[in-house]
Amino acid sequence: MAMSKLTDRFGRTVNYVRLSVTDRCDFRCVYCMAEEMTFLPRQQVLTLEEIARVAKTFVSLGTEKIRLTGGEPLVRKDILELVREIGTYGLRDFAMTTNGSQLPAMAEKLREAGLKRLNISLDSLDAQKFASITRTGKLSQVLDGIDAARDAGFEGIKLNTVVMKGGNDHEVPDLIEFARKKNVNITFIEEMPLGEISERDRGQALCTSDEVRDIVGQHHELIPTAEDSGGPARYYRMSDSPIKVGFISPHSHNFCSTCNRVRVTVEGRLLLCLGNEHSVDLRRVLRGHPVTDDKLRQTIIDSMDLKPERHHFSSNGDVQILRFMNMTGG
Ligand code: SAM
Ligand code: SF4
Repeated sequence: MAMSKLTDRFGRTVNYVRLSVTDRCDFRCVYCMAEEMTFLPRQQVLTLEEIARVAKTFVSLGTEKIRLTGGEPLVRKDILELVREIGTYGLRDFAMTTNGSQLPAMAEKLREAGLKRLNISLDSLDAQKFASITRTGKLSQVLDGIDAARDAGFEGIKLNTVVMKGGNDHEVPDLIEFARKKNVNITFIEEMPLGEISERDRGQALCTSDEVRDIVGQHHELIPTAEDSGGPARYYRMSDSPIKVGFISPHSHNFCSTCNRVRVTVEGRLLLCLGNEHSVDLRRVLRGHPVTDDKLRQTIIDSMDLKPERHHFSSNGDVQILRFMNMTGG
C-alpha cells in the first residue's frame, strides 16, 4: 500500500476517508434530524460513479481506510455496486456505518461485495424507547439485522450508542450485556452539537464518557488499552469477554492531535474537520471541463493546508456547526 501523500500543516497524516453516500434516511433520530426534513435534490448529490472516483483518487494518495456512511447508506439505490467497486481497491479497511434496518436483507450481500466491517447504531433495547429515539425505527428489525451481520462473517462488528442523560443512560448496563452476549464491540458516543434541532436542548442531554464509564465500571472492570484508531475513540477490554468497549468524547476529551481523517459529504464537499466548516468543493472539480484525475488529486493535496488544528465543541448546547450529522457523514 502506498504511503499517504496527504499531510497537513500540523504534521498529521490523513489515511482515512469517510464518504457520505446519501443524506436520506428511513429513521429520524432525535439527536440527528428534525422530524420534518428537506433532503437534497438529486442533481446536487454525487452520482455513484463520482463517489467511486473520489474514493479511488484518495486511495491513489495513500488512503488505507474508507467508511461509507450517511444518512443511511443502505437506502441509497445501487449501494451494492459502489461497495463492490470500492471493494476492488485493496483497502486495509473498508467499513460502513448503518442503522441496521436494511441488514436482514443486505448483510450477506454487503459481505460478498467486499465490505469488511460494520458499525451498527443501537441506542436502546426497549422497543418503545427505540421507537421514540428513532421516531420511525423498529427495534426488532435492527436486532435481526445485527444477527444477519453476525451470520455474514464480517471481520468486525461494532455497536454505536449515543448516550443521552435521562433518555437511555439507564440502559448502558443492558447494552453492555447485549454486546457481550452477541460478541460484538460497543462504543458509547457523546452527543455532538451538529445541526440546529429546535425541539432539542443538547446541553441538557449530554452524558459524558466519564459518566458512562463509571456506570459500566459498576458492573465490569474495564482495562484500558493503548489502542489508537487515530480517532476520537478510546478503547477498553474486559477480563472475561473478548469484546472492546469504546468511548467517543468530543466534549470531554479532545482528540484532534491524532486526527487522521477527512470526510466527503454527499454533495462532494471535502470537510477537513467534523467540528469546523473548512471545506473544499470537489463536486465542482468533478463536474468541471475537462475533469482530470490530476486536477482532482491536486485539489485534495492542496486541501490539506486547510485542515484546522482542532475543533471547539462546547457542551452548553450551543450549536456551532449548522450541518446536520446526516449531511456530514457521522
Ligand atoms: N444512519 C447511520 C447510522 O445511524 O448508523 C449512519 C449515519 S449516522 C449520522 C452515524 C452515527 O452518528 C450514528 O451512530 C449516530 O448515532 C451518530 N450521530 C448522529 N447524530 C449525532 C450527534 N448529534 N451526536 C453524536 N452522534 C451522532
Ligand atoms: Fe438516520 Fe443515522 Fe441520523 Fe439516525 S443517526 S437519523 S439512522 S442518519
